[in-house]
Formats: sequence, C-alpha cells, structure tokens
Amino acid sequence: MKIAQVVIDRPVRGLDRAWSYDIPEGLQLTPGTRVEVPLGTGKAVGIVVAISDTNPTQIELKSISATLDPYPVLTPEMIDLAHWMAERYVCFLPQALRAMIPSAVRRGIKAKVIWHYQTVGERSGRSSLKQTLWEWIREHPQTTDEEMQQAFPKHRPLLRALVAEGSVLATQDVKAKKLRTNPSPYHLNTDQLAAITAIGDLPGQEWLLEGVTGSGKTEVYLAVLQHVLQRGGQALILVPEIALTPQTWERFSGRFPDSTYVWHSNLTDGERVQLWQAVQTDEPLVVIAARSGVFLPFQKLQLIVIDEEQETSYKQEDHPRYHAREVAVRRAATFGATLIFGSATPSLETAWKARQGHIGWIKLPSRVMQRSLPEMRVVDMRQELEMGNRGMFSKVLIDAISLALEREQQVLLFLNRRGFSTFVLCRSCGQALGCPHCAVTLTYHSDHDHLRCHYCDFAMPMPTHCPMCHSDKIRYFGAGTERVVTEVQRLWPRARIVRADRDSLTSRDSYYQLYRTFVQGQADVLVGTQMIAKGMDFPRVTVVGIVAADLGLHFPDFRSGERTFQLLVQSGGRAGRGADPGQVVVQTYNPEHYAITHAVTQDVDAFVRQELEMRQELGYPPFGSLWLLELSGTDDQAVRQTAQQLGEQLVLRLAENAAEVLGPSAAPLLKIRNHYRYHILIRTSSEELPVNRILLDMQSDYPELSITADPYFML
Ligand code: ADP
Ligand code: ZN
Ligand code: ZN
Repeated sequence: MKIAQVVIDRPVRGLDRAWSYDIPEGLQLTPGTRVEVPLGTGKAVGIVVAISDTNPTQIELKSISATLDPYPVLTPEMIDLAHWMAERYVCFLPQALRAMIPSAVRRGIKAKVIWHYQTVGERSGRSSLKQTLWEWIREHPQTTDEEMQQAFPKHRPLLRALVAEGSVLATQDVKAKKLRTNPSPYHLNTDQLAAITAIGDLPGQEWLLEGVTGSGKTEVYLAVLQHVLQRGGQALILVPEIALTPQTWERFSGRFPDSTYVWHSNLTDGERVQLWQAVQTDEPLVVIAARSGVFLPFQKLQLIVIDEEQETSYKQEDHPRYHAREVAVRRAATFGATLIFGSATPSLETAWKARQGHIGWIKLPSRVMQRSLPEMRVVDMRQELEMGNRGMFSKVLIDAISLALEREQQVLLFLNRRGFSTFVLCRSCGQALGCPHCAVTLTYHSDHDHLRCHYCDFAMPMPTHCPMCHSDKIRYFGAGTERVVTEVQRLWPRARIVRADRDSLTSRDSYYQLYRTFVQGQADVLVGTQMIAKGMDFPRVTVVGIVAADLGLHFPDFRSGERTFQLLVQSGGRAGRGADPGQVVVQTYNPEHYAITHAVTQDVDAFVRQELEMRQELGYPPFGSLWLLELSGTDDQAVRQTAQQLGEQLVLRLAENAAEVLGPSAAPLLKIRNHYRYHILIRTSSEELPVNRILLDMQSDYPELSITADPYFML
C-alpha cells in the first residue's frame, strides 16, 4: 500500500496541512505532481508532497482520483524549499506552495509549449489499447498530443501510463535555442577583471560585490554569466523593481540574444507556464526576474545574482512573508550555485557577513573610465529659512539646475512622497483632513483635484470649505512630487518635465516609455520618488537634487537610518554617469545625522561600522532575530484585550527561549481600513527555530493574528 501526502490547493483555513490519500494500484506517482482527490462530497485539486508506505492515521483513506500532469510541476528541491519556508516564515505548507507556484501552473493552464512523444526500447503487451497506442507512437516519432487526439480521442490516460512506466518519452518544444553571445563592447578594467577571476575560480561561493555606483557591476555579472551559459548552466538575475527591468533586460538580451528570458507581472498565463517549463529542461538560459522569480523550478541552476540586494522590495509583505535574498541563499546552496549580492550600499545583514568573512567580499572602488564620483553638497534648510527662503529649493540647488539647463544637461529631482501636498489643514479650526477609514491625513492630488488616502485609496473631491467649521481657509501643507513639478514649471517655464512615481507610472510600458523619453533627451527634468533613484543609467544627468533628505529618518523603524543612507547614496549615484562630472545637492533639516554625513562623504565603511555598533547594542538584526505580531479588528477595545492576552501567553511560552516580548502597543498607524492594529515585537539573540514553532502553534488560536519573521514594515 502506498500513501500520498497531498496539499489541497484551496485557501481555506482548516485545510492548511497535507492530507493522506491512498494511491490506487498501478498508478505511478511522483512527489510534485498535481492530482485530483475527493474532498468532502466533491473533488479538489492538490499537489503530492510526499509518498510513504504506511498510513499515518488510523482511519481508512480515500483514494486519489486522477493525476493531472504527465510529469511533476515541482522538483523535490522545491518541495523541500516549501517545508523550509513554512518554518522560517511561520506559515502553513499550502501557503508556501501557493506563493511558490504561479496560479497559472496550479490551475493547469497549458503552455504554448508543445510536447513531443517518442517510444523508448521495446514494449510487448497483450493487444490492449495501451499497446496499440504505443505502437502508433513508434510509427509516428515526435508525435504531438494534437495528432494523437485525432487518432485516439481518449488517449490521455493511456499516454500518461506509458510515460509513467518509461516506455514513452515526452520532450518539450521550447524553441531550440542556441547559445549566441555578443561580445562586451568594453575593455574591462583591472578591478572588473579581478572580480570576474575571483568569482570564476570558486564556483558555488557566495559573494558581496560592493561596487560604487557606476563601477561596472553589470559587466561583471555578464562575464560570469557567459561562463555559466557556456558550461550549459542556468542563471537567475534578480532585480528589485520593474522600473529597473527595461534597461537591465536590454543589456542581458543584447549580450545573449537567444538565451534571455524575463519573468514579470505582465506575462500571460501561457507565457508563465512556458517559462516555468523551460527552466525545468536542461537548456542553458538566463532569467531576469523580480522577487517571485526566485521560485522558478530551475534544473541546472549555476548562478544567482541579486542586484541591489539591499532593496526592501525583495521582502514579500503578504503571507508567506519571505525574503528573496534568504530563499536565494538556500537554493544556491542546494544547487552548489554561485551567488552574487551586488550593491553600492549593501544591507547591514550582507555587509556584516562579508566583514565576518562568512562570504567572499569584492570591491569595485571606482567608477569606470576614471569618472569621478559626484560632488555632494549638503544644504541646511534651517539656514535657508533664516535667510528668508521659504521655497522648496535652496539657492544652491536653483543655481545648479539653472546652469545644467543652460548647458542642455539633464536634472533629476527626488522627493520620496507622491501627490501634491501631504496634508490639508483648516487654518480656522486647525483640523487636518483625515481619512475616515484610517488614522492618517489625506493627500491632495492636483492632477485629479481630489484628496486621497495612500493606505486605503479612499478618495474625495477637494472641499472648498472645512467639513468641520465651514471656514474657507483651507490650505495645502507639505510637498509631494506633483508640487515639485509645479515649482519647476514656475521657475523654469521652458524646461520639459516628466514625473515618475506610482501615480504616473502604472504599467511596465509606461516605465519603458519614460526611460526612453529621458534617455533620448526629450525631457530636461525628471521628478520622481525613490522608485527612480536606483539602477537607471542616464549619462546626461549632471545634477541630482534631493529635495528632502530627512523624510525617512523619523520613521519608527530600526532600519530608517540604513534606508536613508542607501537612498541618498543611490540617488547621488545617478549623477555624472556620462562624460560630464556630476553634482548632488542634499537638502536637509538634520545635516549632522550620521546617515546623512556618511552619505555625503559616500563612506559605506564608516556608516556600516556605526550602524552595526548600534544594532549590536540594541540586539537588532543581524545580531538578533525579530518577529512582528499584529492583531487587528474593527473593535478597538476587543483587539487591545486580545493583544494583552496574547502578550501574557507569549511571555510564558517563550520564557525558556530567552526571547523578549515587547508590547503589546498600538501600531504607529493605529487604524487602517477601519481596522485597529496592535503590535507585539519578539526579539531573541538565539536560534530562531524553537520560536518559529511556538508561534506557528499559537497562530491557530488567534485567527486575527498575523506574524512576520524578520519584519521590514513596522508601521
Ligand atoms: P553599476 O551597476 O556598478 O552602477 P554599470 O554596470 O551600470 O555600473 O556600468 C556603468 C556604465 O559604465 C554603463 O553604461 C556601462 O555600460 C559602462 N561600463 C561598464 N564597464 C565599462 C568599462 N570597462 N569601460 C567603459 N564603460 C563601462
Ligand atoms: Zn475648520
Ligand atoms: Zn484610508
């Protein structure tokens, strides 16, 4: 008797585990195959995650009804990965599987891929239908499902049985790709060559490639990749945001025209399934992907690159709250693949591993072609105010922009806030207009002339009178990107301006459009949020203005210093990437904050040293582990009580594990979408596994509880 462990593909609480089913006599089944099983009075689709010889339960089991794939959709490596994810990120196995497998694959959508069948060896059987089909296939080598369908309308179960017993081989028709490469147009410099040699000499090693902005890291990836492809291997290049993809994709596909794939959210279901299957062959290829690409079921993975590895977009916010960097580390280790973390401003976690010697550390300390790093100038906005400048641009920045525009160079202006104003206030009664569903103020958007909540998307027309006291003294305060555009227009009426933020860029095509427009010189000034601060390479930009450097500094989050530092250095890195030197103007009210002073001198080492010291003192990552527990509900009082009760229980249960329980306390954003939110933080310096198990166990008692291991969003 064989028993299959099946995870049901339905997001229903209570089904959140694997179920045992009997495997009918004669059915060949491997883990990773989709099956149909009886469930209640109906049927459901599930994935086999394990097969055993004994029935772990006392009750009689139902049988699997049918298999849905001629081959498994998941490799054993990925089933292991799902188990690990469930534990590491405190979620249930079905949740992990659901995150890993695209819904198109789970739903069994057909790829554009065509399967070809041929017979293997000899097969003798009674004159059964199965035998007849086998003989027909032998006479029609490389036949397809479609052809078979014509001759044998009900061939599928028979064919599946033939494939399972090994007498028929199924192969894919992913366009036979030859490895074609275009050589690098550059003479790589000594630092680049040294990096390539070091990485090539120790395959399977983890590396931090710490290269200042514009130091030519991508050329290093491309050279390492070329080796991998020539050896017949597969590679994954992770990029943080879709905004970076057009340019990255162009560089990779330009170099490897027949072997580059992209994995992004605009793929059709069929394309998704096709790529899912392509990486399961042993075709040499490279996939450029955002976060979820880390789950592609590669067969011959030899290289993973995580570009801009410090980016928080690698952390998934919804269940399972995985970090692509950690998943990549695990997968690279299983495959013995080389792993490269690329960054000018590494995360503290990676910087620490490199400094401890746990991973290799390679530096590219200078820009290519002896280009200098941009000159960084700090402007103390308090002094501007004292000097009577109430505008959003300092004198220094205005002069720099004027000069650049005169010389027909380009300007980037960063402000990490969308909309026109950040809040709208009545000057008579002093009330700020807030969202009725969230504990936040509404943002004015000039292009729609309305107020909008950035947390729940509630929108209302801009009122002419205060809703509270009916006064007409309503004024805008705080500036967002839309207001920066208006101001640039006012000061430089002839400048051609484009805006890049989440409101103006809604699709992958609009990113590409924007990138093209700017690169081809059809615009002079690009105003944007941090979304454009990284990666993009605009050679004609000579001035970068950071309108409010301290915006992120005062977030109640231990990573706020790190993020500010990274953002400033990255933004600065956009200047002077061409032949003309660049200049960066950093406007701030906190010029003496260490994140700002070290960013201005672009001293990563000094920043990392100071930040690590602080983290060690406070027991924050990388020196300890954190979990954020959030309870939420519509009844403030009830949620608070539950949180209190949970907190007390946690203290008892975690006592042995030297774990600290902080809180409960009201979340910094107490109310979102009419839900009141309370937080508990758990901190430990020891092994995380026992804590994960305890939390997973407790989760079942608290339906409103959401747990984040290693949280990145603490609001
Ligand atoms: P990074 O990713 O480190 O910021 P890139 O790889 O984007 O840097 O390189 C910056 C620019 O310099 C790109 O336009 C790239 O094509 C170019 N480049 C890279 N290596 C060289 C080289 N050895 N000589 C000349 N230009 C180079
Ligand atoms: Zn009022
Ligand atoms: Zn809201």
